[in-house]
Amino acid sequence: MSRSRPTTDNIRATYDGFTDTYARVWGENLHVGYWDEPGADSPVAAATDRLNSELIARLRTQPGDAVLDVGCGIGRPALRLARELDVSVVGVTISVYQVERATDNARAEGLGDRVSFSEADVCSLPFDDRSFDAVWAMESLHHVADRAGALSEIYRVLRPGGCLAMADFSLRRPASGAELDVITGFREAGGVATLTLIEDVLGDLRAAGLELESLTDVGDYVRPTMARHADLFRQARPMLEPRMGVVALDEMIIRNEQLATCRPFGYILLSACRPVVSP
Ligand code: SAH
Repeated sequence: MSRSRPTTDNIRATYDGFTDTYARVWGENLHVGYWDEPGADSPVAAATDRLNSELIARLRTQPGDAVLDVGCGIGRPALRLARELDVSVVGVTISVYQVERATDNARAEGLGDRVSFSEADVCSLPFDDRSFDAVWAMESLHHVADRAGALSEIYRVLRPGGCLAMADFSLRRPASGAELDVITGFREAGGVATLTLIEDVLGDLRAAGLELESLTDVGDYVRPTMARHADLFRQARPMLEPRMGVVALDEMIIRNEQLATCRPFGYILLSACRPVVSP
C-alpha cells in the first residue's frame, strides 16, 4: 500500500465517485456522529445531526450574516445553518457531483435564494478579503495537506472579529505499533492528508493569525461512529460489493472496527477568531 499523501485530485475523484454510495449507507450528513448516551444506540441521523448542534453552539452569527461553509458535502449542515440561524451560506467543495446535489437540496428546501454551492479549493478561495462574518469547516480540513495555508485563506476571507467553527479528526497522543497501523490504514483509506496532535492544530491556527476561543476533544463521543460504520457496511454488502470489490469492502469493515477502540484517535471541536485589530 502506498504511504504517500492523497492529492486533491484523488480526494475529488473519491467524493465524485462515492458520495452517493456513502450517503445511501450513512445519510446526507457526511460526517461522524456524536453519541452522548451510554450504549450509543440512538439512530445515526440523530447522532450526525447532534454533531452539527455541537458545532453550531460554537459558531457566532447574527441573523442576516454571511457564512462560508468550507467542504460543504451535499449541503446538509449548510441548509440547517441557514434555516436555524437565519444566515446566508456559501458552500464550497472540490467535488462537482457534490455541488450539483447540494444545489438540488437547497432548491428542494426552498432555500436556493440564501444558500449556494460552488466548486473551489479552500487553499485559493474565490472570495474577496473580509467577505464573511463566519466560517464553518465541518470535517473537511483533514483532506488538506497545507492546513496552515487553508487557515490563512480562512483568515483572509473572515471580517475582523469573525470566527471559524471547525470540527475534525485529531490525534490525542502519538501512536505506535498496532495503533499506528490502524491510524495509517484510516489515513490511506479516508483520503486523510493531515492528521496531527492537537498542539499542531493550535500552531497552524496561530500561524494563520486566528485566536483560539474554545476547544474540546470529543473523541470518546464520536468513536462509536466507527462501529456503526462497520455494521452498516456489513448490512449493505449486496449494494457495496459490486461497487467496491470484496477485498476493499472487507478492509473497510475491519478498519472501522479497529478504529472504534483506537485510543489515540481523537476528534476536536473548536472556535477561533480573527482579531478585531490585526497584530
Ligand atoms: N462538511 C460536510 C462534508 C464533509 S466531507 C458534511 O459535514 O456533511 C469533506 C468535504 O470536504 C467534502 O465536501 C470535500 O469535497 C471537501 N474538501 C476536501 N478537500 C477540500 C479542499 N481542498 N477544498 C475545499 N473542500 C474540500
